[in-house]
This record gives sequence, structure tokens and C-alpha cells, in this order.
Amino acid sequence: MRGWSLEASVSRERFNFQMNTQAKQSDSFDFIIVGAGSAGSLLAARLAEGGEYSVLVLEAGGSDRRLWVHVPIGFAKTILDKSINWAYQTEPQAELNNRSIYWPRGKLLGGSGAINGLVHIRGQHEDFESWRRSGCDGWGWDDVLPYFKRMEDHYLGASALHGAGGPIAVHKPQDRSPLGQALIEAAARSGIPPNDDFNGETQEGAGDYDLTIRKGRRSNSAMGALKPALCTGRVRLELHAMVQRVIFEGSRATGVEYRIGDGPLVSVHATREIVLCGGAINTPQLLMLSGIGSAALLEAHGIEVVADRPEVGRNLQDHLVARFVFKTRRPITLNDKMKSLWGRLGIGMNYVFRRRGALTYAAAQAGMFFKSEGSVPRVDVQAFFSPYSADGAGKSLHPFSAFTLTLTQSWPTSRGYIALRDADPGTPPIIQPNYFSTAHDREFFVKAMRRARQIVDAEPIRSEISEEFKPGPLVRTDDQIIDCWRRPEIEPVMRVVPK
Ligand SMILES: Cc1cc2nc3c(=O)[nH]c(=O)nc-3n(C[C@H](O)[C@H](O)[C@H](O)COP(=O)(O)OP(=O)(O)OC[C@H]3O[C@@H](n4cnc5c(N)ncnc54)[C@H](O)[C@@H]3O)c2cc1C
Repeated sequence: MRGWSLEASVSRERFNFQMNTQAKQSDSFDFIIVGAGSAGSLLAARLAEGGEYSVLVLEAGGSDRRLWVHVPIGFAKTILDKSINWAYQTEPQAELNNRSIYWPRGKLLGGSGAINGLVHIRGQHEDFESWRRSGCDGWGWDDVLPYFKRMEDHYLGASALHGAGGPIAVHKPQDRSPLGQALIEAAARSGIPPNDDFNGETQEGAGDYDLTIRKGRRSNSAMGALKPALCTGRVRLELHAMVQRVIFEGSRATGVEYRIGDGPLVSVHATREIVLCGGAINTPQLLMLSGIGSAALLEAHGIEVVADRPEVGRNLQDHLVARFVFKTRRPITLNDKMKSLWGRLGIGMNYVFRRRGALTYAAAQAGMFFKSEGSVPRVDVQAFFSPYSADGAGKSLHPFSAFTLTLTQSWPTSRGYIALRDADPGTPPIIQPNYFSTAHDREFFVKAMRRARQIVDAEPIRSEISEEFKPGPLVRTDDQIIDCWRRPEIEPVMRVVPK
């Protein structure tokens, strides 16, 4: 699901509304953007670029002035910080022992781009081509590539596949673990070729990830695009402004209503367009609150129907990740460094004086894209290597030397939905991903795990590993593997919190 763009009326009314930031007072805007996340921030800056349009950006969260937003490894802290996170929970998942799965989403300037794992990955060429073939004109690989290039400030400079000078910095990890490099070599011996650029000609292979880090600090579209645009005076940003609904005149979107904290409802109108960039959960929620969705469901909540669009909120897709933890023979993981006061002090000093070291770690350093089995048409497993391990969110790093290898499914076939729980914009919507509801998705993890075990059984990584700690050598048969992923070992995102 993507953000929706709704055509606005050409109403030229003038509006007064409350302000909560240093932004300048303005009467009307050409564009209103809901959400200052990855998409909304970039779009606002682009729209304002020519100097022709005025843009209002409404963001439900607050400022990004927080240490752990900017220090890369802070993703492990912000993932749980409810003051900057919508911290959603899914419905209980029938195929996961009725567990409800935690879904973090950023609620601050920068959105999820301010709390994400900093791994810079484009979709596969074939993804975009299949969209184009399905009728999405303008979404083929050649169509989207210029935009990917425009947003990048790539460490190798401009090329046929990459951009320079764009708002988002793209760099390789500065401090690479020898374990990650050993994994890349082992992958090569297992038939997975080295790949220096997963965002290049092909995703298949093993190599270091590209990261959205500039000089040891997080880079995102709010920092690289929106903040400079605010200085031009053509973009106005309202923080803590929670949009409640889109206002329609007939079937035309003319404005939005928002509320700052517990304050009164404020209406603001757009002369050109209203663009919803609230992310994959909040955008369909806002559409439904505004009367666009399944007429029957909207009426059940007492919402006036503007357009009967039953597909809004449907076709939700998410990919679980499954984590291996391998104990290592050598004490060269972050777990080891964090054990002693001197180690922690060294990490801090390295960052303060050189902007390097463990505090610049992203969710993964190296990784692999490979096929779960030979017959699949293209790579369907993404693997992340991280030089540390923990039992899960909010837990301390393990007291032993270990690394994590996380697998995720590029092509889940389970489908779910987002639906309104009630008509109150403050009530979190129903999130039903229906994880593991297809045999294909369950079997995928069996195949992916077996293939990953083959890879780590190759040298030189094999000699580095002393033991598979999780899920462990006793998990062998298909049923055991599926059963183990139904338990809390499987998570929707990597959740590791150093203490
Ligand atoms: C923990 C985590 C780790 C991730 N790791 C990676 C990674 O390593 N690599 C990667 O490529 N992707 C990663 N992602 C995904 C990536 O960050 C998102 O796909 C991307 O940020 C989505 O951009 P967006 O603009 O659609 O939504 P968001 O960036 O989430 O922005 C939506 C914004 O809209 C605001 N908003 C929502 N509703 C309203 C409303 N009603 N009124 C006003 N404002 C509203 C929100 O507060 C938010 O700021 C991760 C995501 C998370 C949560």
C-alpha cells in the first residue's frame, strides 16, 4: 500500500489556524502533506523547490532532537520508545500461537525514517516491472530509477545506477566485523556470489549493506530535504498536529482537520492537492476515517461515506524475520566489548572523537540475498548479519560472544488488512497481517533456514562458530522448524537493545 494523493478543490478561502512552531503565519497553501516521514519530508521539499508552491506539512509527532535518533545504533532504543513511536500491536496471530506482534512506526519528524535500521535497499528491478505490467504506468524500473538516484548522495559519486548530491547519504559500514567478512566468503563457497552493491545491477549475492549514515550520524529525508526546505520559508511544518480527517466538498478533497494535543479542531484547506503520507497503517486509517473505504464497514462505524472503496486497507503484506544466534570462538563481537566498563568507555570515546565504532552500527552490516530453493525465479531470502546478539527487544546483549543472522522473506503470500476499530482517530486501527496463513510462507522458512545452515557450515565462518545457540541443533525436522518460529524467536523486526 502506498500513500494516496487526492485532488483538492481550487477553493481560495483564507484560513486562520493555530500554530505550534516557529513557522510563519500563512493563510492558504497550495499543497497539504499529512506526515513528515520518509515520503512526506522529501515530497514537501521537492514541491517547494521551484519556489512556485506553498506547502503545509502536518506531523502528528514531535521534534527529532533526540540523541538516539541521530546516533545510528540508537535504532535499538527508539524501536521501543513510545514517546516517538506509534508502537502498534497486531491482532493475535492464529498461526503464531495467538501472539500479538509488536509493530513499531516512527511518530516524530522523519517518521519511521528516524527510527529505522538504516539499511538502504531498493526493491528488485522485477518488483517494479511487475507493477508496470499490472497496469501501474510510471512504476517500471526505468521510471523509478531516476528518483532513486535523485535522493542519493552515494559514497562513490554519481553513476548509471546511483546519484550524488541528493538529500540522503549512502555509505558502507565504516567498521566491519571480520565475522561478516567470513560470512561473505562462506557464502561464495556455497554458490552465492559476492555483491558489492545490492542496489546495483542485481540484488543476488553476499556483501556489505549500504547504510543511510553521514559522518557517523543518521541521514534521512527530514534531515536532508525537509529541514533545508523549511529555511526557504515556502514550507511550513506543524508538529504534534494529528490529522483527524480529510474534508470533502462532494467528492473533492478540499482540506483537512487536525488537532494539536487536546486543542480544538483546526481546519485548513489546500488550493491544489492533499497528499497523505502517513505510512502503510495510518494512511488507510485516515482514508477510512474520511469516508473512503468499504461503505458497509464505514456505515457500521457511523462514518459518512464519500466513496465506496472496499480495497482501502486490504492486501496488507508484511514479512516476518527469523533469527539465528551463533556463538563464536573468538571474543570479537559487540557482546564482548560491552561486557567491561573499559570496553564501553572505548566505544563512547571512539564515537565522540572519531564518529566511528559500535555506536555507528546499523541494524545490519553485511547480508545476503539468495534463493530459498533453485526453482524460485528470483532471490526470495534476505539475510542480515549483525555482530551482536540478544534475546529480544529490551533485553541486554548476551554475556557470551555471538552474532545474529536474521532471515526474512521477500515474497510473503499471506495477506491481511487494516481496519477501523472505531470512528475515533485516536484509536489504533486493527492490524491483521495473517502471518503464516499460507503453506508457502510456512515452508519458506524451513527452506530458508536449511539453506542458511548450509552457508554457515562453509569455511571460513564455520571455524568461527562454536555453537548454534538459537534456534539450536535440536531443531531439525520441518515440523520442529515451523514450530520454533511460531514461538517468540520469530519477530517482525530485529530487536536488539544494548545496555
Ligand atoms: C523499526 C523499523 C526499522 C526499519 N528498518 C528499515 C531499514 O533498515 N531499511 C529500510 O529500507 N526500511 C526500514 N524500515 C521501513 C522504513 O523506515 C519505512 O518503510 C519508511 O520510513 C516508510 O516511510 P513513510 O513516509 O511511508 O512512513 P513514515 O516514515 O512512517 O512516516 C509517516 C509519518 O506520518 C505521520 N502521521 C501518521 N498519521 C498521521 C496523522 N493522522 N496526522 C499527522 N501525521 C501523521 C507519522 O507520525 C510519521 O511521521 C524500518 C521501519 C521501522 C519501523
